Amino acid sequence: QKAEPRTTLEPLYELISNSSSPAVRFIRSRVERMSERWIDAGLRLKQSSNKTVPIQMKVLLYPGALAGSVSQRFAAMVDRGGPLGELVQWADLSACLTILGHDLTFSTSQSHLNYESNEICRGSCPIQRALTFDLIYTDYHGLAHLKGAMGLAFQHYQCRFRILDSFGTEPAFNLESYALSHGYKTLWGSWGLQPLQYMTMFPHTPDNSFLGFSSEDAVRREVREDELQPESYRKDRIAVIYGKQDYMWQGKSDYVEVISELLETHATVYGPLGHSSNLPSFVRNHGLLSQEHFLRLLRRAKVFVGLGFPYEGPAPIEAISLGCVFLQPRFDPPHSPENSEFYRGKPTTRQITSQHPYAEHSIGKPYVWTVDATNRSDVREALRAILSTEVKLFTPQEFTCWGMLERVHGYVTHQNFCSKSAPSWPPESSLRLHLGPLGQSCVSVCQRSSLLCDPALFHHLNTPAVFTSTVQDADHLFPSYSPWGRHCALQQEPLLFSCSGSDPTRRRLCPCRMHFKGNVVGCM
Ligand code: UDP
Repeated sequence: QKAEPRTTLEPLYELISNSSSPAVRFIRSRVERMSERWIDAGLRLKQSSNKTVPIQMKVLLYPGALAGSVSQRFAAMVDRGGPLGELVQWADLSACLTILGHDLTFSTSQSHLNYESNEICRGSCPIQRALTFDLIYTDYHGLAHLKGAMGLAFQHYQCRFRILDSFGTEPAFNLESYALSHGYKTLWGSWGLQPLQYMTMFPHTPDNSFLGFSSEDAVRREVREDELQPESYRKDRIAVIYGKQDYMWQGKSDYVEVISELLETHATVYGPLGHSSNLPSFVRNHGLLSQEHFLRLLRRAKVFVGLGFPYEGPAPIEAISLGCVFLQPRFDPPHSPENSEFYRGKPTTRQITSQHPYAEHSIGKPYVWTVDATNRSDVREALRAILSTEVKLFTPQEFTCWGMLERVHGYVTHQNFCSKSAPSWPPESSLRLHLGPLGQSCVSVCQRSSLLCDPALFHHLNTPAVFTSTVQDADHLFPSYSPWGRHCALQQEPLLFSCSGSDPTRRRLCPCRMHFKGNVVGCM
């Protein structure tokens, strides 16, 4: 059966309506609020004739953080300023797959994974129920639950998993034996999946699949060209400060004070009003707002101010979509698993140069200003420039409903990790081979030529024909060339093909390809 695009979200509402969990309620209300945009995207998909219609997939959505023992801790935080970014992604992914016409099951119950219950199983269950699904979207917690429930079948069926993994998992951390012997062993990595099975919040490294989410507003403007949308909202001279919990404000009073000299400062900090110890008294605190009210506040605000934490969340993208300018602290030296408590144990080597590197590097001025938050005149100068510029609403294409729909459509249609043969998508004709300079990762080698590193193309260049004399080994920096001793090396372990990773003694051989700016998948 083909997956016929839908123009209704009813099938999803049926799955998530009866939950008393605050997290699922958050998901539902987000889907409802954005439903019109999703339906517009569905109509557009129906009309676009050049899209291949994939087979309808039986999909299990299993947010592990909302199931089992961790779920209570997570649920308790939803209404108290805890992380909501993952829920944003689960909401948008569910909406997206519904519109694409797939057959979804949504579960937050660990016991549903087990053999006995027949709710997910739908009929006969000769083996573990998880095996009846073509695709299983889960997270790192869910992966552990699945392993427990599936026993030996886990390994056989793991090619069907897709892991929502906000910050990403680089190949060097993914393969347990390699991670152990090369110092890349971390709390979260070592599952040995295909790196593209990890789906990230932002396009951190092309080694993983960028899932993203969908931000406010822009799609309606795109889809209905006859409908006039505002280019900007009427802005009050206010700044909304991004920090849902009191501790995020610690040591930030100087920075916030400079801002308050020029703008009225508002906040949405959780806690009994008036009891916040780190919140300067001149800040108007609304308490934690529902997402709808929070977005309403952003619509009036001129500036959205990052305090340095939380890192890499959806809120700055939403704020920019609603016409705010995002002001954020630069990190010098950059934060990384070596020096940041938050990133410690995360399977990445990324260097985080500001609170939101995507906003800093992929959006930039006039929408994003990255400043030295300890330097009052730097902050003041940026604010003056911001106040004297009229900034229009802006949503990067890849964060619109349509952009996300195209991307997820591309993944469902083309990504097949169960096949033993080397990936056939993207086609070899898209390969642009680049030998990078010493010390650069393939991510930056390709970027410098306005191309994108695509790990699915590595196997085309990892052949003896590219180098005259070669050795083979398992190393996430291979294939590469070392000028000392004229040493050429090919990759022996396909799971270690990695766009990220660099070494001062190696010139990496990189599989780059063209891409449309703002669209990492739908470009072939
Ligand atoms: N948000 C909200 N109420 C608030 C502040 C934020 O509902 O008072 C929402 C916001 O719209 C965003 C989500 O919380 O979609 C996640 O925000 P953030 O960027 O802070 O990411 P997190 O750190 O929570 O993952």
